[in-house]
Amino acid sequence: MGAQIFFDNYSPAGDLVVAACCFMIFVLLATSYVNKTKVFAIYLNIVGFLLAAALSNVFYHNLYTRITDGNYVAVYILRVFFHAILFSNLLLYVVYIVELQRLERDKRIPIILIAATIYLTVIVVDIVTTINGAGFRLDASGVKVSGMNIFLCGYVAFVVLIVSIIIIFRKRLYKRVMTGFYGTIAISFWVLYMQGVHGQSSFTVASFLFPTIAMLYLIHSNPYDIEIGAISVRALEDMVQYNYKRGRELILMSLYLPDFDMEGKTFPKEVQEVIRRFSSEFFKEAVLFRISNGHIILVAKTSLNANYGERITNILEAFYAEYEKYRYDYKIVMGTSIEEISRKNEYVSFIRSIHQSMKMNQVHFVEEKDETAFKEYEYILAELADIYAKKDLEDERVLAYCQPVYHLKTGKYDTAEALMRLKLPKLGIVYPDKFISLAEDNGFIHVLTEIILHKTCREIKRLLEAGYELNRISVNISALEMRDEAFVSDVSRIIRDSAIPEEKIAMEITESRSDQDFMVLKRIIEQLKQKGILFYLDDFGTGYSNMERILELPFDIIKFDRSLVIASDANERSEKMVGSLAGMFAELQYSVLYEGVETEGDEMRCAHMSANYLQGYKYSRPVPISELRHFFSMAE
Ligand code: C2E
Ligand code: CA
Ligand code: CA
Repeated sequence: MGAQIFFDNYSPAGDLVVAACCFMIFVLLATSYVNKTKVFAIYLNIVGFLLAAALSNVFYHNLYTRITDGNYVAVYILRVFFHAILFSNLLLYVVYIVELQRLERDKRIPIILIAATIYLTVIVVDIVTTINGAGFRLDASGVKVSGMNIFLCGYVAFVVLIVSIIIIFRKRLYKRVMTGFYGTIAISFWVLYMQGVHGQSSFTVASFLFPTIAMLYLIHSNPYDIEIGAISVRALEDMVQYNYKRGRELILMSLYLPDFDMEGKTFPKEVQEVIRRFSSEFFKEAVLFRISNGHIILVAKTSLNANYGERITNILEAFYAEYEKYRYDYKIVMGTSIEEISRKNEYVSFIRSIHQSMKMNQVHFVEEKDETAFKEYEYILAELADIYAKKDLEDERVLAYCQPVYHLKTGKYDTAEALMRLKLPKLGIVYPDKFISLAEDNGFIHVLTEIILHKTCREIKRLLEAGYELNRISVNISALEMRDEAFVSDVSRIIRDSAIPEEKIAMEITESRSDQDFMVLKRIIEQLKQKGILFYLDDFGTGYSNMERILELPFDIIKFDRSLVIASDANERSEKMVGSLAGMFAELQYSVLYEGVETEGDEMRCAHMSANYLQGYKYSRPVPISELRHFFSMAE
């Protein structure tokens, strides 16, 4: 038997570790949620080829040690095969990076051509030199006879190409990702170099492993929310698209808890626990996505959850039981995937549009008409965005309507409230319930307020010039827009530009729950009051009323909500309560205004409950601001 002198120090350890790592990567990919993009498909191939390379390397060295008759043809073939697999891997790296950088066709094609040329050349040369003996060769006793090192040449050519692509198109990649790639390439070199220094050949394939792990971590991992076990909204889009393309139906369950939907807030511990439990207990293979701090969506395949109607009933029952304990406000939306929404991948805005029109603490099951409503919602949102972008105070889509307010003492109309309407080409007149909160949520409200304020000031100017007796017109303000530093100066400028006295404008504000708003509100009201602007507390009596705070803010007029007007009609007790509240405000020098006075009866009751002003359909519905003059009298 010829001496089996190994042509390089080789032990299968390196390759077996690589094979094990590849299996591990497959396990991780199967058990975590990964965006199934085209890049990801290439990545899967890279891992597959790496596994094949490691195994074939083990196999061909193993074969070599078992040959005793000096006929090494099989070893030659397997070795070429092994190289082909490794170079396929390098070729895939190129395709992967080109795809990742989203290179245009005219840049992508030459690069792929160069890579393919290197690939084919190396393999052909490897085969030819192996056959003619100029390359890798073993003598009769199995000792390696040194020849051209084709593998190294090909390897260097590929590395030069890959590094060049990364450097030339570095702007296309997020900087951190780039740095990650540089780092792993450096480690690969170092491993190859060390193995050269030590006359080793066990870690050739292992050097390919590092970039592969880097890709897994840098590119294909999704931020995972440890608290509740959810992944990001981007992954939801991906899951929707993936299943839509395969024609698979999904069940979507959305939970929105507005109390926590603010920057810097998270669900409290007990809620986190419930969510984590719910996301795995009721549906098979459900995936939980976090849309924003207070909004999560659970998605499952209907095919895996055949009796999903029953499951939905169960999850809701369990939810109600939890709700009884914690009582955080919620909105729940449930439904199965809808073709059109999936195609456009718009579930998040679709669900938000449903939130817009549903009441708190309700469960909404998606129906066909939600889709039509969604189209309308998107249209209104686009128009609002356009109004916001143009910032045109004369924008004709924003209409100022006005509701005159009856002054009990004088029996005249000398004040009014400005109410906004939109007039949109495709919808005609749109009422506030369809757009105010939409504008608030998307940061468009301030421009709308500016337009209304401008148009109101302009009409005040006309009325005063025509000699009407006009005390003021109140404009509705969102607490949100007051957070903006420029609020006071914007408002002051618009009033100044219209050349009317500042006290002809008043502002209506509803209470805000947040402490932060309270401080800001207080400061801004004080600043504007100095200029003579009066302040109304809007919607008093709706839900949350904190007397201490109300009294701390310098309001002039308290607007009793229509719900109190209605309540006062129910029984004597309620009438007494509303009446004494109003009496208390009157005693503290506030003026009291009743909203939503519809009937003679309402008027009578309110008049007996410390009313100064009355507003409602009994006197007039809101009318276009230009018609307001019909209600006012001429100054004497
Ligand atoms: P709000 O400030 O409480 O306005 C009063 C609402 O009650 C108006 O609805 C008005 O048309 C309605 N109303 C008046 N009299 C009666 C009545 O006798 N009975 C009943 N049932 N309702 C009556 P509108 O115009 O649809 O406005 C709804 C809400 O939209 C307003 O409630 C206000 O919160 C908001 N809004 C309207 N215009 C603006 C605006 O320019 N800026 C802001 N930020 N919000 C606005
Ligand atoms: Ca109001
Ligand atoms: Ca009101």
